[in-house]
Amino acid sequence: MAGTAWETGALGASTAAGGEVVTRFAPSPTGFLHIGGARTALFNYLYARHMGGRFLLRIEDTDRARSTQPAIEAILDGMTWLGLDWDGEVVYQFERAQRHAEVAQALLDKGAAYRCYATAEELEAMRAEQRAAKLPMRYDGRWRDCAPGLEQEGKPFVVRLRAEREGETIIDDRVQGPVTVQNAELDDMVLLRSDGTPTYMLAVVVDDHDMGVTHVIRGDDHLNNAFRQMGIIHAMGWQEPVYAHIPLIHGADGAKLSKRHGALGVDAYRDEMGMLPEAVNNYLLRMGWGHGDDEFISREQAIEWFDLDAVGRAPARFDLKKLENLNGHYLREADDARLAALVAPKIQENIGPDGPDLLRRAMPFLKVRAKSINEIADSASFLFRTRPLDVDEGAAKLLEDGARQLLARTRDALAAVGDWSAPALEAAIREVAEEAQIGLGKVAQPLRAALTGRTTSPGIFDVLALLGREESLARLSDQVDPAAGH
Ligand code: GLU
Repeated sequence: MAGTAWETGALGASTAAGGEVVTRFAPSPTGFLHIGGARTALFNYLYARHMGGRFLLRIEDTDRARSTQPAIEAILDGMTWLGLDWDGEVVYQFERAQRHAEVAQALLDKGAAYRCYATAEELEAMRAEQRAAKLPMRYDGRWRDCAPGLEQEGKPFVVRLRAEREGETIIDDRVQGPVTVQNAELDDMVLLRSDGTPTYMLAVVVDDHDMGVTHVIRGDDHLNNAFRQMGIIHAMGWQEPVYAHIPLIHGADGAKLSKRHGALGVDAYRDEMGMLPEAVNNYLLRMGWGHGDDEFISREQAIEWFDLDAVGRAPARFDLKKLENLNGHYLREADDARLAALVAPKIQENIGPDGPDLLRRAMPFLKVRAKSINEIADSASFLFRTRPLDVDEGAAKLLEDGARQLLARTRDALAAVGDWSAPALEAAIREVAEEAQIGLGKVAQPLRAALTGRTTSPGIFDVLALLGREESLARLSDQVDPAAGH
């Protein structure tokens, strides 16, 4: 289509001619960024960055009912959170329908496509016959060599590709290896529907070409499509991309990942499960790709090391435990102020204006064993509870019997501490234990129960230091003498 805005290169294809690698992620909006899609995006991103090329994003929004603005935002949002920044503007497939129709017309003009006037009823009858004869169900090419007559004038038609019937098509897939399909197995697929809208097969090929995509890295559920898409590429005389079809992610039981295995949307890993993006990235990277025994791989290392050849052919299995362990690792590495900002909104209690700073100071103690932001928020909540504290069942037990007397002594000893710092507090509590001739743990238990309302918390001296003198002593008094209503 000479002279149109969609000449090759309009979307940057011409710059790819110099050997630059161009990859793309092409999600269809479904309401969220699928965790498997995120891995596809990551592999495309890493390969492009590794090769010094470009990584493009195309939203395949031709399903108008599903492609709502929130569904599109969810994808962009997930990509941004994972730090998978794409190059250039997002390409929206639906906007390119005109260009897709132009390519269909070009194929008609070349004789590489034809108009098919078969009605829905005729095609249904054809399929019924094939079913009855136990033949593979495919379009029989009834309009392939048949010029429409006068009676077809004004009748609806679809445009079909005049697919190669002889020989075979071979894809030398970078992950799957060489894969061959007999051309006789591929029927003449529809390119344009009778309402003039493009099919997915046509749109993908045209967009990849116009965007200058050199490497198509996607789920292996698209491998069969690739053979059909090659038919269009060949008919147009376009350059074949390199294909890399990566195995899908399966659940721990080996079945294709689905809702019953856990969350599918990346947003749930962030919001509901409290994961850090670097943990999710590291985990996704390790699903289907590896670098020796390296477990923790930074973004920089991933860009340096990533290559398609090391992508495995077996489906990766999703293992939430591994992801949680990675998350624990990255929480410990993360900056405390950053974590405080992530934890603060998850705390039920009113944290007040000083909350973020207190959280930041508490973070080194809070994050040691945590596996998620949620766990940190939960273990941080004692800092913000209002007095008198609700004491949970386990903690209440630790305050029974003689514990309150011991607690009273501890409180008095602490009240006498001049310098309210962890070492000074520790010295005072050790003295209480020695005088009472009991272990330090015995003193710490009721203390912890009174200060946090729980049986577990960060180290007790750190808890005291974080709460400060006034609040600590008040919480202790609340338990020593509940009736007084301090
Ligand atoms: N839109 C397709 C999907 O979400 C991907 C198409 C492609 O990568 O070629 O499955």
